[in-house]
Amino acid sequence: MLRTALLAAGQSAAIRRAVETLPLSRSVVNRFVAGSHLDDAVRVSSALAADGRHVTLDYLGEDTLDADQAEATVAAYEALLAALGERGLGERAEVSVKLSAVGQRLPYDGEKIALDNARRICAAAEAAGTTVTLDMEDHTTTDSTLDILRALREDHPGTGAVLQAYLRRTEDDCRALAAAGSRVRLCKGAYAEPARVAFTTRAEVDRSYVRCLRVLLAGEGYPMIATHDPRLVAIAASLVRRYGRSPGDHEFQMLYGIRDDEQRRLAAAGSTVRVYVPYGEEWYGYFMRRLAERPANLAFFLRALVR
Ligand code: FAD
Repeated sequence: MLRTALLAAGQSAAIRRAVETLPLSRSVVNRFVAGSHLDDAVRVSSALAADGRHVTLDYLGEDTLDADQAEATVAAYEALLAALGERGLGERAEVSVKLSAVGQRLPYDGEKIALDNARRICAAAEAAGTTVTLDMEDHTTTDSTLDILRALREDHPGTGAVLQAYLRRTEDDCRALAAAGSRVRLCKGAYAEPARVAFTTRAEVDRSYVRCLRVLLAGEGYPMIATHDPRLVAIAASLVRRYGRSPGDHEFQMLYGIRDDEQRRLAAAGSTVRVYVPYGEEWYGYFMRRLAERPANLAFFLRALVR
């Protein structure tokens, strides 16, 4: 119930205006977001790289209905990728892109505009010696996102996909995407989805996660195991061994600001660990999904409010 309410609040412009005007919002948000500017993204990436971790950077924004805003997002990614290239960070840092931030939901030709825009970001990534992963959003966009992924991979085969274990279709999608060279991030899924398309209990989602992970690890692609769940991390580590995988052919991923100790422990034990680092001003939707995931995060936010 609380999760659904928070995710609904994440879609509400009125609640967004109220939350954004709270005087302490930014300091609370900064637990999960690197900062507002490109320099913050580069600073945090450099620090994580120096600490032996990899990074995927997300320029915050989603669901734009404004072509100029989509264009500004592309320009922000191009500037970021140029900065990563100049600093030799291309080996350690890639970018994550939400297609809804680059035009997918525009009323006319949204899918084509998003594909063209994503192509420009992939070209900039290639010039910087790195790759792009397409974040996955709510289930109404899954087919469109996978279609765009297929088109992008014709010229940029390293483009990564994200699949969400809570969707009933995902085991099949894993089978389709477990081919050689295919980078696939497996996460539980962060949106409010109807039971028609998604598993709704934690146990069902976790079981689906393990089934999907087996498919990806048994395949020939590059699985990216994105979860903070201690149980699933342990299961993943044992499946990695069982399927004869080694650190260069899969990776663990976690979000910036979440289970930092565990990220360091995995990296120190020899695993490839990538941290998802969001930055920018449009933090509201991302922040509300993090609150929805964990009541303790909401308590942290409320404590900061009354302090
Ligand atoms: P949960 O069952 O939510 O949590 C298990 C445990 O992890 C908790 O008990 C707690 O100890 C810890 N934990 C989890 N979340 C938090 C938190 N917010 N704060 C503090 N501790 C926490 N979702 C999408 O829908 N599309 C995407 O493209 C996408 N990309 C992602 C990329 C990465 C690298 C990661 C890590 C997640 C991504 N997600 C994405 C979010 C994902 O779908 C989940 O919503 C999120 O990871 C929480 O699920 P969990 O697997 O960590 O397990």
